[in-house]
Parts: sequence; C-alpha cells; structure tokens
Amino acid sequence: MKFEIVTFGAPVLRVKAAPVQSVTADHKRLVDDMMETMYGAEGVGLAAQQVGKTVALCVIDVPVELDVEQEGGPRSNPDIPMPLIMFNPRIVERGSSQERRDEGCLSFPGIHTGVQRALEVTVSFVDWKGVPQTLHCRGLLARAVQHELDHLDGVLLVDRMSAVKKISLAGQLKRLRLESERR
Ligand SMILES: [Zn+2]
Repeated sequence: MKFEIVTFGAPVLRVKAAPVQSVTADHKRLVDDMMETMYGAEGVGLAAQQVGKTVALCVIDVPVELDVEQEGGPRSNPDIPMPLIMFNPRIVERGSSQERRDEGCLSFPGIHTGVQRALEVTVSFVDWKGVPQTLHCRGLLARAVQHELDHLDGVLLVDRMSAVKKISLAGQLKRLRLESERR
C-alpha cells in the first residue's frame, strides 16, 4: 500500500521518533509500504514521519548509478547492498570533511537547497530481521543517512538551509505549510 507523503507544515514531521523494542510483523508491513511509497515518489530515502508514523525507522535506496562521486567513476559504497532498512539508527562517527551539495526532500516538493553534510558517516542500526548492524557510508549514501536521521529527530530541510535561502523560498514554504494545514 502506498502512503500519501506528509509535507512541510504537518506536526508529525516535528515529532521525535520512538525507538522500537523488537521488529514485529507490523513493522515489516510498514517497511513494505514505505518502500512502495519511496519508489513511487522516486526518492532515495524515506523516514517514518513522512508517512505519518513516529517509529524510529527509515528506508534508503541509492541507485547504483548515483553511488558515484562523478559520472562513470568508481562506486562509493560497493559493499553495501541496497535497500537499507534501518530501525533505531544512530550515527556513531562522523568524518571531519564536509561538503555542501544540493538536497531535496519528498516533504518539500519542488524545493532544493545546498546543505552542508559530512562526506562519511558510520551508522549503527537494527535491520529488518532484528540484527544489529554497523555500516561506514560515503558520498550520497552518507548524505541520505544524515538527511533521514534528521527526520527521525524532527529536523527538516528548512532547518538546514541558509537564512538567505529561507528568505528566497519564504513564499513556497508558506504555501506548503498552508496546504498541509488544510488537509
Ligand atoms: Zn526528507
């Protein structure tokens, strides 16, 4: 089942996710529905709040062709199988090198903004089988992990953009907020 994606202005996007004690059949169904929703929207990641849930769960799928620093270059994360299903994810180490790149969010349709993120992160989580995992992620995957973990903390793209960008997008942000409130 595909969910309707919650957009900026909906209070649930500001709720901090609750960790799961164990991965249940209900959680697995939610994973399936979130994946379907993410692929349907052509996103590379989705957090539970974006479908109106508040469990600490996100899904990520960086396509092979995007898992490169530059077109035709070597894979950034050749050993990490996609998709990633992460319960209770937590960044345990953040590389010191950072990079500003354009980022979008399914909860901010039509908006892209430069966001400064670490180039590499190590993330610990529980997979859909309930097994603890730790992965070292680079490039776009590292960016996606940081973006989705922000969601689980109730932190949004709008909080990461520069003051100037926020002003230039004020009209669009206001429209999104009013649309969410009307739902
Ligand atoms: Zn997002």
